[in-house]
Amino acid sequence: MKAIPDAISPQLLLQAVEQAFNSVLITDAQPAPHGPRILYANAAFCALSGYSTEELVGQTPRILQGPLTDRDVLDELRQCLRDGRFFHGSTVNYRKDGEPYWVEWNISPIRDAQGTVSHYVSVQRGFSELVAAQNTSQLLFEALAVSHDAVLITDENGVIEFANPAFEAMTGYAVAEVLGRTPAFLRSGEHDDAFYASLYESLRAGRPFHATFADRHRNGHIFHADQTISPVRGRDDNRTHFVSIIRDLTARVRHEQALRDAASLDVLTGLYNRRGGESLLERIYIGAREGGAPFGLILADIDHFKAINDTFGHPAGDRVLQRVGRLLRACVRATDGVVRWGGEEFMVILPHCELRAAMEQAERIRARIERTPQPEVGPITLSLGVAQLNAGETVASLIDRTDRALYEAKRQGRNRVCSAD
Ligand code: GH3
Ligand code: MG
Ligand code: MG
Repeated sequence: MKAIPDAISPQLLLQAVEQAFNSVLITDAQPAPHGPRILYANAAFCALSGYSTEELVGQTPRILQGPLTDRDVLDELRQCLRDGRFFHGSTVNYRKDGEPYWVEWNISPIRDAQGTVSHYVSVQRGFSELVAAQNTSQLLFEALAVSHDAVLITDENGVIEFANPAFEAMTGYAVAEVLGRTPAFLRSGEHDDAFYASLYESLRAGRPFHATFADRHRNGHIFHADQTISPVRGRDDNRTHFVSIIRDLTARVRHEQALRDAASLDVLTGLYNRRGGESLLERIYIGAREGGAPFGLILADIDHFKAINDTFGHPAGDRVLQRVGRLLRACVRATDGVVRWGGEEFMVILPHCELRAAMEQAERIRARIERTPQPEVGPITLSLGVAQLNAGETVASLIDRTDRALYEAKRQGRNRVCSAD
């Protein structure tokens, strides 16, 4: 230890310590289990910790520790002190009000005349820097609190250590409810094993994993979230944490679904357009082939529609198309598909329906149109072709046979139903 110049009184030294920006803590060197007791804390230490000198003196420095205080750092600290060595380290301590803050200490053992360690002097370096760091982490904490993205931090085993309020809002789970659990409760069952395999592989390799997750909300519904999970290594310990940033995509997924719907619907009639009809046909076709169920198809074409346009004008023709669309929809089951297949040509897709039933359905449609006069135009009629999917037949072949049946109905004089057989 340096010798103190004669000109420097102990009082002056105390004043210097008291005015130091660094916080200073002096303890005795009582052995375990009781451990060292605080003998002195300077003003900077009191300001940092929120305790008064009176509250600190006689206490063990353990009152400054809490859940985020690194146990490994403390073990190392104790080992150093036992060995009478100088210690330098940093971890989290807690203010009197429970607020965590970052500390960086130098702790020196002080020996008496016999060379026995009698005291420890702890200086917390860069007090103003620490205040800045404290403000920074406070700011970061506030940022997470107001973030619209959910933030989840887990330990290396996936156990949740932190969740922000957005996580609560997005998932329906209270923060207190999820701490200590793994995020498996969010699984919706919509991802296969390969999805999780690639997730774990990424994280094991230390790479972030980014994907759109279908997660399950606490109340059961599924929401879509853009999620990035990154392995993060602590600054002062080697433990890896995982930080997940989760952005709710439900609104976007809905919007995209709406766009897809819009692209598959006919603007004039609100029925499926040809594109929507083709994909519906494909889905029903696959279902019918897998289930071995019959499936029927009707193509209906307005008779002499060109004449309607020519006589009453194109806008009146449009209104006829709209009314025919509504009538078709009203004639069929909810599970049947009605498509505006072309200009004045409609398709009705009938799952779980044999040829005979499809013929009866087509006849009901024909009769309904015939007996429903159009307001501006008067009575109109439809010609209809009907077919049932044959074993091993393609969709294209089914449509082709239905179309030829329709042509036959036209050829036979219109306002009638013809079967493909
Ligand atoms: P057929 O009995 O042989 O079916 O005779 P048609 O006049 O109905 O047949 P054609 O195919 O000759 O004429 C169909 C007409 O449908 C021609 C076209 O202008 C009209 N059309 C197609 N799309 C629309 C539309 O969106 N609105 C209106 N108003 N007319 C349309
Ligand atoms: Mg026509
Ligand atoms: Mg036509």
